[in-house]
Amino acid sequence: MFQCPICGELMEILTNNHCVNKHNLTKKELLDRYGTPKYVTPTMSREVQNWIRESTIITRMDFDIAQAAARSQRRG
Ligand SMILES: [Zn+2]
Repeated sequence: MFQCPICGELMEILTNNHCVNKHNLTKKELLDRYGTPKYVTPTMSREVQNWIRESTIITRMDFDIAQAAARSQRRG
């Protein structure tokens, strides 16, 4: 997870889109002025933990579906 150096928003990667829409800067300009986005590990803040929890629900569903698919393939 990366944290935008200006607004602190967490995202998987700092996108040019975010820089332009939120801060009216290109990604390059933002990096030149504010430095590279801070890398945040999931254990660092509650905000991130909540984000992980929400995305884990989806991931787990996908995982179960994949598992079920694998199981039925093995049976067949
Ligand atoms: Zn931002």
